[in-house]
Amino acid sequence: MSIPFYNFAELHHEEFRTEIKERISKIIDQGSFVEGEYNTLFENEFAKMQGAKHCLLVANGTDALEISLLAYGIKPGDKVGIPGITFYATGEAVLNIGATPILIDVEPSTGLMCPESVKRMSEAHDLKAIMPVHIYGLPCDMKALESVCAPKGIKIIEDAAQAQGAFVEKGKPVGSTNSLVTFSFYPTKNLSAFGDAGCILTQDDSMVETIKAIRNHGRGSETLLGRNSRCDHIQAATLHLKLKDVDRLNNQRKAHAKKYHELLEGMPFKLLDSKYIELSSWHLYPIQFESEELRKKAQAALVEKQIGCTAFYERSMKEEKVLSQCVGETENANNFSGKTLCLPIHPFVKEEDQKTISQTLKNAL
Ligand SMILES: *Cc1c(COP(=O)(O)O)cnc(C)c1O
Repeated sequence: MSIPFYNFAELHHEEFRTEIKERISKIIDQGSFVEGEYNTLFENEFAKMQGAKHCLLVANGTDALEISLLAYGIKPGDKVGIPGITFYATGEAVLNIGATPILIDVEPSTGLMCPESVKRMSEAHDLKAIMPVHIYGLPCDMKALESVCAPKGIKIIEDAAQAQGAFVEKGKPVGSTNSLVTFSFYPTKNLSAFGDAGCILTQDDSMVETIKAIRNHGRGSETLLGRNSRCDHIQAATLHLKLKDVDRLNNQRKAHAKKYHELLEGMPFKLLDSKYIELSSWHLYPIQFESEELRKKAQAALVEKQIGCTAFYERSMKEEKVLSQCVGETENANNFSGKTLCLPIHPFVKEEDQKTISQTLKNAL
């Protein structure tokens, strides 16, 4: 019996399918294929859920990052700080607009951007912006990052692709800060479309027209160079329908995280600090080994039993060919990469699956 890493069958259950088919059928009847009524409905409701004033849908999470950089006026050659541990797209977005990534080091136990490293890098380089990533769904220490950046006028773009429903601190959702906050709704994320979609959150009224113009060929502006990053109506209709259920599904992820913390305590790898139980969106559940060899041993034992698991992130940004020329601080990130294994934590994982996983790890180590 296998335990999958993702479960789309239960996410897209019968009742959901019936409703989404009705919505898609209506969209076909209306011929309203891009930026329709569901786009506005979703934007309003998602902004509310994440504590933001505005939400602007775009075509995907990487575009959300690039458009945020452009909206802040980041120009070719400008220096932008990215964490050494993230999904590749964070660095790619900086390169795609011609800016220069500066590597910021991470916290050894989480892979989150380290505020002390931002401070040092902001003294060594003229940073125009930083892009902290709420990796795995864990919130970065935004207060500490803001206190380094605000006095120097360094802009902050939070990459929250994995953090739908996460909290920066108790009562403060990711999205409630004064940064531009970007999301991806790629099918594997906690809130997901039937293909590609993304969005940008902001509290700043003056950003809204800029972002709207950039995502739609510069329309509404005489001077801005735009692009096509509109969000399809079918994706917005899907997201709007799934939004009703995302809290419940995130709570199931949280319950699984709690259970794993109980079952795995005392084993020869590190668990995340339990303060994250309430704060993380639990997009992923990483466990951290002392060595890459031990991680590979655990992974092999799980794979042998057809248990889905992934070694996010096997390479730091410095270890990616395209970013290997980047300067900055890399020690903790290079040390972090390769040693982490993510266990299945989709909403439909069963307690008996978690027990099987924990027993398999126990036997293997
Ligand atoms: C998924 C993801 C992205 C990219 O999103 P796309 O929608 O695939 O472009 C960016 N950053 C992080 C951290 C991600 O997990």
